[in-house]
Amino acid sequence: MAFEGLSERLQAAMNKMRRKGKISEADVKEMMREVRLALLEADVNFKVVKEFVKTVSERSIGEEVLESLSPSQQVIKIVNEELTALMGGEQSTIQTAPKSPTVIMMVGLQGAGKTTTAGKLANYLRKNQNRRPMLVAADIYRPAAIQQLETIGEQLDIPVFSMGNQVSPVEIAQKGIEKAKEEHRDFVIIDTAGRLHIDETLMTELTDIKALANPTEIFLVVDAMTGQDAVNVAESFNEQLDITGVILTKLDGDTRGGAALSIRSVTGKPIKFTGQGEKLDALEPFYPERMASRILG
Ligand code: GDP
Repeated sequence: MAFEGLSERLQAAMNKMRRKGKISEADVKEMMREVRLALLEADVNFKVVKEFVKTVSERSIGEEVLESLSPSQQVIKIVNEELTALMGGEQSTIQTAPKSPTVIMMVGLQGAGKTTTAGKLANYLRKNQNRRPMLVAADIYRPAAIQQLETIGEQLDIPVFSMGNQVSPVEIAQKGIEKAKEEHRDFVIIDTAGRLHIDETLMTELTDIKALANPTEIFLVVDAMTGQDAVNVAESFNEQLDITGVILTKLDGDTRGGAALSIRSVTGKPIKFTGQGEKLDALEPFYPERMASRILG
């Protein structure tokens, strides 16, 4: 289960303190030592951990907290609030363009779940927001990527625009958007190429598509199981493309939590959705507060 180790360790640290009636500064410090280790072991970025521990400690060691009626509860509340803040605080929604169709670009490395997530997102928009999305197959390099998206489209009964793999992705994106306008589609989701590693050719292609397609949202799809690698990938994509949000996949696996807890803080960009399985309805909006409560138990 995701976050299992982290959850257990954080809960243990809190419980130890909860058993005490009155708590001292030393108790808070001891608890925070354990919290720090739990976060580091969950593969949370070390700078993020340092900042988190500092903030929680400063807020907890004040007189109002330690002298209050239920100091341990107050401290736990602070941990919960700061964990929520770390993941972005408020839930963030999908932005729409002032003029239809809204273009969403899906980017990410191969295997992260980009193509599947493009389908999931189309399904989500139709089902939850009553939209008329269209998918565009602009990943012309990975063998079978176009076919994969077409199959997903068939399963969902959502149209997929494709032009084979002999036309440039920029042109496919452009024609796809034209087609969406003709057919009065209000969302265009472009599945772009992923590669095994970030390279210049990939980024140039993506910046070209961005310049032309003028997307309202650029969602980076990253695999939660890859921990700090996911965070590094997010940093690079964000530097080059100024992404608008992250979709964290494979949260149904036993990810330790590092990516979920670090990405927002490191990139400044919110996690918008999480992938919770291989099925096309396994996409959930990301609620920082619920996630924090789930981790803290
Ligand atoms: P792409 O190369 O980034 O386009 O990746 P794909 O969409 O082909 O996905 C790679 C694999 O990850 C496929 O087997 C997907 O079914 C799987 N996958 C994608 N998202 C999730 C998820 O949220 N949970 C799980 N368990 N598997 C996922």
